[in-house]
Amino acid sequence: MAVVERSDRVGGACVTDEIAPGFKVSAAAYVSGLFRPQIIEDLELDKFGLRQIAFDPQAFCPFPDRRYLLLWSDVERTCKEIERFSKKDAEGYRRFSDFWSSFYELIEPMLLSPPAAVADLMDLMRGPEAEELLRRLLFYSAEELLDEYFESPEVKAALANQSIIGHFAGPSSPCTAFTLSHNLLGNINGVVGAWGFTVGGMGGIPDALAAAARARGVEILLNSPVERILSRDGQATGVRLRGGRVLEARAVLSTADPKRTFLGLVDPGSLPEEFLRAVRNIKIHGAAMKVNLALSELPDWTALPGGPGPQHRGSTYLCPSLEYAEEAFADAKRGTPSRNPWMEAVTQSVLDPSVAPPGKHTMSVYVQYTPYRLASGNWDDLKASYADRVLETVAEYAPNVPRAVIAREILTPLDLERRFGLTEAHQSHGEMGPDQSFSFRPVPGWSSYRMPLKGLYLCGAGAHPGGGVMGAPGYNGAHAVLEDWPSLRA
Ligand SMILES: Cc1cc2nc3c(=O)[nH]c(=O)nc-3n(C[C@H](O)[C@H](O)[C@H](O)COP(=O)(O)OP(=O)(O)OC[C@H]3O[C@@H](n4cnc5c(N)ncnc54)[C@H](O)[C@@H]3O)c2cc1C
Repeated sequence: MAVVERSDRVGGACVTDEIAPGFKVSAAAYVSGLFRPQIIEDLELDKFGLRQIAFDPQAFCPFPDRRYLLLWSDVERTCKEIERFSKKDAEGYRRFSDFWSSFYELIEPMLLSPPAAVADLMDLMRGPEAEELLRRLLFYSAEELLDEYFESPEVKAALANQSIIGHFAGPSSPCTAFTLSHNLLGNINGVVGAWGFTVGGMGGIPDALAAAARARGVEILLNSPVERILSRDGQATGVRLRGGRVLEARAVLSTADPKRTFLGLVDPGSLPEEFLRAVRNIKIHGAAMKVNLALSELPDWTALPGGPGPQHRGSTYLCPSLEYAEEAFADAKRGTPSRNPWMEAVTQSVLDPSVAPPGKHTMSVYVQYTPYRLASGNWDDLKASYADRVLETVAEYAPNVPRAVIAREILTPLDLERRFGLTEAHQSHGEMGPDQSFSFRPVPGWSSYRMPLKGLYLCGAGAHPGGGVMGAPGYNGAHAVLEDWPSLRA
């Protein structure tokens, strides 16, 4: 068995970079939580070096008027925070948490299995309560959902963040209640709903997977881009690498995105035209970029100065209101990077000192909206000046950050595509709305990981249950291969 990877290391968009001596940052993906515990257990990844730490509070949301909101893993503790903004909203948060607990119980068991047909899913949701859950999940925007529970603009802004992250959508865009649901599937070290860090950086996850695979006899070939997925008589027969080397195989599993796989690697003549049309129509609009920083000191947040403290442990969201996020998205719809970007930042070094020299820190800033397709200009020219804009915006909340920068790594949407092979810089290999989820992912009719060429499987974020460092599409795809193995041509 062999894994072939075009890059010089495994991990795709889940890797660690050393951007200055001793400063390790998670280059693209930066927080853990989605990676399924079952996979860690099955492959004994802890024996291969994987260590994750949940953070708490989960979020720190500073506001320009110097107030702030902390969202803790514990519901009651968060309610106390919310009471400072609205007593009524504290009660709303209890009901909101119950709503998501019902969702988690319903959806979580579906992650490590092939997707249910949407019609079957509808069938599962019988009775007034279940139908109400489904109605809100599938058809509401995040804003509509939040309006039903909360009155405070700050509370709504804080809770909307997870609905737009990674999506070309604003909080009032249709179906963003559904995208919020995906990001609430965190589970780290058994803490349901929690996010955290992978010790040493996100590259720790693929490194542990690679070590577990090697221990089971898998060969991993780096710097080995696949040029063609080969086929004969309607069945995949292997791959041809750049340079001409051919690897024959009984099954081929692709974790490249569906557009790259089917429009770039497979001979188009071997696939049905209807399937190719559906792949061409997959909606895919990269919305984000990263700015990773090596810092001489911690961000000193004006809303909660000093530290290290709770304001430095989890995710910091820089988004004062739903209107702010909506305005940032409006720029992107016109093909312009947001003048006032929405951001999530983490300073992993506070909980995990292994990623920075003593007394120094790392900061990973995820920036939206930075459309892959620009109305004018190009990302290579914009790169440095837009990173400056990002730092200016961070400085509105933590003025010391720009002068604390020792080194920075900027990954524009174009860099994300070039370096990680993400078509149009899309981190989930395609939008994650309900129209492209469950049995509609990657395209309707082909959601069982088995593709129109026998022996070819799609097992990355483009397949159910979608994007994020989850492992689930690979787990489900591998099980499909095991089922089919006897029927595949040797
Ligand atoms: C900026 C950014 C921030 C993110 N933040 C988070 C986060 O904090 N938490 C989280 O859970 N998720 C996050 N994500 C999403 C997450 O990283 C992805 O959804 C996840 O990496 C998808 O994994 P994958 O294995 O399906 O695909 P990928 O990570 O895209 O990996 C596909 C692999 O295929 C290889 N490949 C492609 N073409 C070829 C070829 N022709 N030959 C050989 N190899 C090839 C690529 O080099 C790559 O290694 C983020 C993504 C981005 C871009």
